Amino acid sequence: MTQKITVIRGDGIGPEIMDATLYVLDQLGAGLEYEFADAGIVALEKHGDLMPKETLDSIARNKVALKSPLTTPVGGGFTSINVSLRRHFDLYANVRPAISFPNTRSRYENINMITVRENTEGAYLAEGQEVSADGETAFSGTKVTRKGSERIVRYAFELAKATGRKKVTAVHKANIIKSTSGLFLNVAREVAAKYPEIEFQEMIVDNACMQLVMRPEQFDVLVTTNLFGDIISDLCAGLVGGLGLAPGANIGENAAIFEAVHGTAPDIAGKGIANPCALLLAAAQMLDHIGQPQNAERLRKAIVATLEAKDSLTGDLGGTGTTMGFAKAIASRV
Ligand code: ATP
Repeated sequence: MTQKITVIRGDGIGPEIMDATLYVLDQLGAGLEYEFADAGIVALEKHGDLMPKETLDSIARNKVALKSPLTTPVGGGFTSINVSLRRHFDLYANVRPAISFPNTRSRYENINMITVRENTEGAYLAEGQEVSADGETAFSGTKVTRKGSERIVRYAFELAKATGRKKVTAVHKANIIKSTSGLFLNVAREVAAKYPEIEFQEMIVDNACMQLVMRPEQFDVLVTTNLFGDIISDLCAGLVGGLGLAPGANIGENAAIFEAVHGTAPDIAGKGIANPCALLLAAAQMLDHIGQPQNAERLRKAIVATLEAKDSLTGDLGGTGTTMGFAKAIASRV
């Protein structure tokens, strides 16, 4: 049986890394059918809209999208496309694995963790932001809800359960921010009680940052509120050697969008030298999500084997390979 997914080829290096990724997925025989949809600068030029209705309809219909990086033009009143997508589909869980791969700039050899960041509330509210008329005082609100906390913590535990992970760490600052972070922590404890088979740990965010840098191997799944999650997931990407190998997923009840964490890399666009690994790893997350964990694992193992063999690595990994050459080396190992 084939599964249809929406594919957004994106801007800058987007089309190059997407072609490479689809090539590997085809070799994997994952039975995917691609419905191509425009977004970003390409869509603005063709349809006069950064995120055309047809693209939103395609994602709503297929419920799963694989997306390359997009450019949101600076100024002109454009809202970030990623933020609009999150809002439109209520993609409440931002899921970012951080794994140390061989022959990369990873700081450690034994990191394998996932950050689950709440994506829709917390300190990221557009409303309630104020600067006083004299410019001397600024104010911004933070909103945490029981519903928002419950669904994100439940997502983290369900993910741990589905992927055989053993521990969930809730990262908070409830000792100081007693209202919002306190509510998040209380709800996390309630949800954790329903998963006795998975170890639950609580950690204050400042300590979590220190522990992540000093002993990252102790972490398995981290779950936290929006702002802490934003910072921690980039910290984790840095621990495993930067954004070239960092995938991410934005997941809601009715849609899920899988992407590379890096941007459009205009400095190397069109040269065929971008590293396709982040998008390939996002594709592996997508395969897990659509019930193909064995194919996801085959893909990850092929990436690891190719890195181990230093076969056709791209420039950012110290090689001289091309995007498609690297993809073919990975495809030959799936
Ligand atoms: P954007 O404005 O879209 O965020 P950016 O250039 O500011 O683009 P990134 O696209 O994340 O930010 O790129 C940061 C640096 O990392 C650039 O030098 C870019 O060439 C490099 N880079 C990003 N992604 C890749 C990749 N997949 N392969 C190789 N280098 C990459």
